[in-house]
Amino acid sequence: MADDLMSKIVALCKRRGFIYPGSEIYGGLGGTWDYGPTGALLKKNLKDLWWKEMVQLRDDIVGVDAAIMMNPKAWVASGHVEAFSDPLIECKVCNQRFRADKIDEIEEHAASHKEKVEWTEPQQFNLLVKAYLGVLEGKQSEIYLRGEITNGVHVNFKNVLDSTRVRIPFGIAQIGKAFRNEITPGNFTFRSREFEQMEVQFYIRPEVEEGNKWFEYWKQNRMDFYLSLGMKKENLRFRDHAEGERAHYAKAACDIEYNAPFGWSEFMGIHHRGDWDLSRHMEHSGQDMKFRDPETGEEFIPWDIETSAGVDRSTLFLLIDAYTEDPSTGSGQGRIYLKLSPKIAPYKAAVFPLLANKPELVEKAKGIYDDLKQNFMVAWDARGNIGKRYAAQDEIGTPFCITVDFDSLEDEAVTVRDRDSAKQERVKIVDLRAYLNDKIK
Ligand code: ATP
Repeated sequence: MADDLMSKIVALCKRRGFIYPGSEIYGGLGGTWDYGPTGALLKKNLKDLWWKEMVQLRDDIVGVDAAIMMNPKAWVASGHVEAFSDPLIECKVCNQRFRADKIDEIEEHAASHKEKVEWTEPQQFNLLVKAYLGVLEGKQSEIYLRGEITNGVHVNFKNVLDSTRVRIPFGIAQIGKAFRNEITPGNFTFRSREFEQMEVQFYIRPEVEEGNKWFEYWKQNRMDFYLSLGMKKENLRFRDHAEGERAHYAKAACDIEYNAPFGWSEFMGIHHRGDWDLSRHMEHSGQDMKFRDPETGEEFIPWDIETSAGVDRSTLFLLIDAYTEDPSTGSGQGRIYLKLSPKIAPYKAAVFPLLANKPELVEKAKGIYDDLKQNFMVAWDARGNIGKRYAAQDEIGTPFCITVDFDSLEDEAVTVRDRDSAKQERVKIVDLRAYLNDKIK
């Protein structure tokens, strides 16, 4: 059942332009994925909404966009060069490599061999992806593509303080790509080698009560965000990290997990990082990273409560959660649709002329399409019959389909069909903009 659902999602993503295998015509590149026209829109809508909530609507968070390539000293300071690793073991029968802590995958692999499988001893494998910078052969310097986007924020802590009006408590938000040399990429986009993260580092006074308060606040705030996108409550849960599971510097950590077809899986984390990052960067760079309270003159290294979400994992789980097979609607055989929140659906509406070979309908529909696209991402479709167009838009998750028919030429109204109920209603053309605005809120 679970494999079946995943293969349906993967097939739909390919068929409808959400996600394709990376470099497919060259046989692909393990752990990379390309987002097609609908997938790019979905991901952008998610990121825009996140940014609006975190940066635009809040007075205590500002955004940055730091470089992917950093001075390698930053990765030494943050501990990644030494400890950003997973335990690797190798199957002695076929030399395939696995993560020693992924017991299910190891057992599954062992069962795939007829003979008894022996494994090498686990060794730590660093996940940082190396690159070479500079134009002179032999003099190029080795750098890392960032393994997480956090460091670019911490190294700019002072710059942000000095160039804006923020005061503790405040956050710095960022969205961007990260790269990891994952040992076993898999489960579609879930574990990729190139992916995007959206994070806030929220700096607070170094006090236990403050830490507890903000940690709980951000846990609930992030859960509410995903619920507001229409994700089913029963498919989401918190998972607090046990003492031994956390990084040694972390005072508390909690994942938000999704009930994926391949089991409950993390797609974001809330981490109480204490003063680990700022004090390490202070130590390694020799620069002062302290905050000075302008009223009391008191100086301290703030603590950091981080919220770190995967854009790709969020997108994947939004797609899975929205996937609906409805036997009761559609023309006899039922239908498939993506019940995506209109806030993030790639297209807010699609506009069709009832018949593509009637110029007066096409012209009228084009006029509506051209007008609506000034404010909304709208799709145009004049191919095939109306049933096929509905089916295509359903699978893309377009919440409303607007059809111009012969009556429209007389009554200046159109038929609007709702994706989820498949019910139709008549709406005046002049009211369409307000209608969509009202539904998309
Ligand atoms: P995992 O245990 O699954 O490897 P992690 O705990 O290392 O994940 P974090 O370092 O906390 O992950 O990264 C924060 C978020 O970044 C994750 O919740 C996830 O959404 C995303 N992320 C991390 N690694 C990957 C990956 N390889 N592919 C896609 N997204 C990822």
